[in-house]
Amino acid sequence: MFIGHFAVGFAAKRFAPRTSLALLLAAPLFADLLWPWFVLLGWERVRIDPGNTSFTPLDLAYYPWSHSLLMSSVWATVFALVYQRISHYWPGTLAIWVGVLSHWVLDWITHRPDMPLYPGGPRFGLGLWNSIAGTMVVEILMLAIGVWLYARITHGVDRVGRYGFVAYVACLLVLYVGDRFSAPPTSVAEIMWTGIIAEAFLIPWAWWFDDHRVFRSALQ
Ligand SMILES: [Zn+2]
Repeated sequence: MFIGHFAVGFAAKRFAPRTSLALLLAAPLFADLLWPWFVLLGWERVRIDPGNTSFTPLDLAYYPWSHSLLMSSVWATVFALVYQRISHYWPGTLAIWVGVLSHWVLDWITHRPDMPLYPGGPRFGLGLWNSIAGTMVVEILMLAIGVWLYARITHGVDRVGRYGFVAYVACLLVLYVGDRFSAPPTSVAEIMWTGIIAEAFLIPWAWWFDDHRVFRSALQ
């Protein structure tokens, strides 16, 4: 899952309006923020295997440190505790904890049975990726709901807040649909670096426009 994780972050703003959207997005994306580094370091393994499922040409062979349920709860707790220590803002802490864990649940729905319960443990997955149309309908619908919730409760105070936000959502959709129709990747390193670069601009960009939007109830 890709933009479905962003949907969770957008929706979370409703429950933790004082937390930056950048962090609310980083939480549900956390497993995928770690994953490319862990693969490049050789701690986890992925193989290019066109047709692995209809949606992805990747065989997610081994990724217990970023993607098992047990490690997800460890990362969720660490991220939430660090945030709580700095912010003393419980709604944000809770949103981050739930957000990091939501990654496992959403990947479990989309992936074939390759999502480990714990390192070395049994692996699960409902395989929504076997249907391209099903995957795209679910993810785009999720993003639409998340973005709608976010747009309803926040208000852009200037151009950055308004157009920066609209451009961001458009960019996510272009990346998502574009990835679907682009040629299969030629090397694992290429996929990992693409992920790292995309995340390195998508997270700060969210911080930027979110900082130029205010919570609606604060306007009254
Ligand atoms: Zn993932």
